[in-house]
Amino acid sequence: MAGLDPENWDALRALGHRMLDEMLDNVQNVASGPVWLPMPAAVRQEFRQAELPTQETPLTALYEQFAQSVVPYATGNRHPRFMGWVHGGGTAQGMLAEMLAAGLNANLGGRDHAPIEVERMVIRWAATMLGFPETATGVLVTGSSMANFIAVITASRAVEGGLDIRSHGLAGRRLVGYAAQTAHGCIARAFDMAGLGTQALRLVPVDADFRMDLAVLRQMVAADRAAGLEPFMVVGTAGTVDTGSIDPLAALADFAEAENLWFHVDGAFGAMARLSPDHASALAGMERANSIAFDFHKWAQTPYDAGCVLVREEGRQAAAFAQSLAYLSREDRGLAAGAPWFCDLGPDLSRGFRALKVWFTLASFGTERLGQMVSHCCAVARYLAARVQASPSLELLAPVTLNIVCFRVRAPGTDEDVLNGDLVKDLHESGVAAPSATIVHGKRAIRAAIVNHRTMEGDVDLMLETLLDLADKRLGTKLEREAA
Ligand SMILES: *Cc1c(COP(=O)(O)O)cnc(C)c1O
Repeated sequence: MAGLDPENWDALRALGHRMLDEMLDNVQNVASGPVWLPMPAAVRQEFRQAELPTQETPLTALYEQFAQSVVPYATGNRHPRFMGWVHGGGTAQGMLAEMLAAGLNANLGGRDHAPIEVERMVIRWAATMLGFPETATGVLVTGSSMANFIAVITASRAVEGGLDIRSHGLAGRRLVGYAAQTAHGCIARAFDMAGLGTQALRLVPVDADFRMDLAVLRQMVAADRAAGLEPFMVVGTAGTVDTGSIDPLAALADFAEAENLWFHVDGAFGAMARLSPDHASALAGMERANSIAFDFHKWAQTPYDAGCVLVREEGRQAAAFAQSLAYLSREDRGLAAGAPWFCDLGPDLSRGFRALKVWFTLASFGTERLGQMVSHCCAVARYLAARVQASPSLELLAPVTLNIVCFRVRAPGTDEDVLNGDLVKDLHESGVAAPSATIVHGKRAIRAAIVNHRTMEGDVDLMLETLLDLADKRLGTKLEREAA
């Protein structure tokens, strides 16, 4: 019985080169196809009815099925006119790094090997990039959902007596935290998973610019303390998912310090704005946080998945996650040396080599170029906002802080919520562009998030032109394009 290596390495090599060439072609030419193509029912059935293979299938056949039945029907987030949600576009450089990482098949839970040093390097770079001390700890994870969860756990174990929660559970303690109503749903989910309960996350109202209202936060914390609860953390968002607004981070840092609260920043995509000279000042105060969660796979364009959590004070993260103090007395040499390990800083033991694609992304472009890319996305967003404001048939629904534009088609006398919801779906099915939909001030909004480094002004023009054509078709009229 042989192992699982190919019998014919030459044939495998030839197929591998073909895969690489074809995928590079596909990335290079991604803009020439539709953003999204609905999966035909027959293709879907191929997967739904496929049975567990008990025998061998040639890799060539599998690759052909991938090329025919998967590639054309992917999400489309690499395409310049994908503007939905907040998805990164990826890069060819990052794709190659993924291939190399898979070839090495390293497990980054721990032990003493070079891939671990690569992750330590990118964590140190991430800390520098976001204004944290080099001694900050951190770990790469699937995404900001997991990064925020790790931060909530770390913060709850940092309260007085908090380490007892690890062995005894909350045992009657009533910890409460705060985030703006505009915070991402994964913060509430983190409270849920941490056993604190979603009720323990107090949602603070926002002002007209969708920023956390500090006066109300102050009242809420005081009222909770008076009621015998234990406020322990406040979460500020740098770049909210609906409108891109930024909570008043510096004031939040002051408040957290005065109230002895853990200050966490969810900077899932927005943290990257620190690299843009035009936008860094909007994030002032983020560097004073106790912890930051952010993604490399969104605005930093690293291929999925790559999120990151950073914790300012050394030792806090291990105190919350390491399974015993034995981690400090691991072997002094040999493969089992080199503590602390990444498995001491989060829930995962076995972990892949995400750090390689993060390294290749940060180093092949450099932070200056990435900052320019962030500035470019924000400029395209402002261009879109200006076009919306110049059109009598369109309405801007929220201020544009970074790269997110919320707007809608005006059609007085019709149900504009229904119309705009339908138009987003029409656009998706047209294959021309893919914004998403959300609710802003109670109104159904079309939401364009310019996160993709490939998106240019012309893409915005084509999206608007197609949108208004689709609206004409639905309304049976010809909407005005430009103000007279
Ligand atoms: C995307 C996002 C998240 C969740 O991050 P994932 O990487 O999808 O897990 C959290 N917060 C904000 C503000 C986001 O934009």
